[in-house]
Amino acid sequence: MDKKGLTEKIKSHLQVLCSEIGERRVGSKENRKATDYAKKVLGEFGWRTEVTELSVIDWTTNGATLSCNDLSFEVFSAHYSLGCSAKGELLAIDTVSKLEQAEINDKIVLLYGEIAEQQIAPKKFPFWNPEEHQHLISLLEKGKPQAIITATERNAAFAGGVYPFPMFEDGDFDIPSVYMKDTEGEKLLSCAGQTVELISKAKRIPETAFNVIGRKSNETKNRIAVTAHIDTKIDTPGAIDNATGVAILLMLAEILKDYSQKYPIELVVLNGEDYYCTPGQVKYVEQNTDKFDDILLNINIDGAGYKEGFSCFSAFNLPENLAKILREILDNSPEIAEGLLWYGDHSLFLQNGCSAIAVSSQWLIENMECQEITHTPKDNLGIINYDRVAECAIGIAELIKKM
Ligand SMILES: [Zn+2]
Repeated sequence: MDKKGLTEKIKSHLQVLCSEIGERRVGSKENRKATDYAKKVLGEFGWRTEVTELSVIDWTTNGATLSCNDLSFEVFSAHYSLGCSAKGELLAIDTVSKLEQAEINDKIVLLYGEIAEQQIAPKKFPFWNPEEHQHLISLLEKGKPQAIITATERNAAFAGGVYPFPMFEDGDFDIPSVYMKDTEGEKLLSCAGQTVELISKAKRIPETAFNVIGRKSNETKNRIAVTAHIDTKIDTPGAIDNATGVAILLMLAEILKDYSQKYPIELVVLNGEDYYCTPGQVKYVEQNTDKFDDILLNINIDGAGYKEGFSCFSAFNLPENLAKILREILDNSPEIAEGLLWYGDHSLFLQNGCSAIAVSSQWLIENMECQEITHTPKDNLGIINYDRVAECAIGIAELIKKM
């Protein structure tokens, strides 16, 4: 297949994922449509598929309102939070030490300023959970406020391009919460000590989602696991995060369909990278407990194909022979650069002692802390350079064939 033909096929996968399906939050029927599509395409090219069911929650809201006397404030239901209809005294808190001292029982607590600088790791997030976050959660749970309002500023490092961002995005944290802009929070400070009324029409719904894995061989020793997450955050079609990754994986299914595999290949569509407790990743780790030694290399794709700049392949823990092959691919591909190190689904392979190559866009990795695209409606088909996506698929296929 020439590059032009390949680009056309990638376009059609992306059309399905971002345009026909769109937002693919875990637990939604669109998310299940997307995994069905991946399964169908893998099957068409002769890959045997294994589908693993994940118990998850879907989440919806009909909006939130906050008022104090005749003033009203713009608030949003925090994603995956329970809803509430609360009325109580507003207590404003801006540092952890104040929270440690405050009597918050039955109050409606506004967290703003220093204490609200970061998004708090979800209680059951398995890969990263700082002690200060656990401490904050436990202060709140012990204190038992009726509800929490968080006022947050821009923080791309934690929340992608989302402003304001929900400080809590956690289906296991049961104090209802809403979020607002820092500027709105400053206005709300004038109501501290007064009675406020907070309504959030949010709802958790038990649902299912699926991981899909394609294999050709029954052999698992020395395998290459290619991974891409298929889910999106709420309210984004997730083009570079991560429909392009899935499109590349599906393209590899086609390019490698007749490849006589020296090393067994596993094409893994993971579900949950952008969901609060990463259920698909946790399940995959569980399924491979004590078996990570069998994985020769993980190739994880996330954030590929951005319109500006080149693609990048980042090397993690590569043994000499693989590093040499990667070097050859980079030398032969002017549009692929060696990338910086970053955090993603490859990290779970690294934590389990594997080598990995992470595929993304150089612009995105270099601007991770200040970009305002991922996790927002701006991450749509309009920001994709389809040639970049095709080059990544070709680069990965070449790399696998050289191994
Ligand atoms: Zn992603």
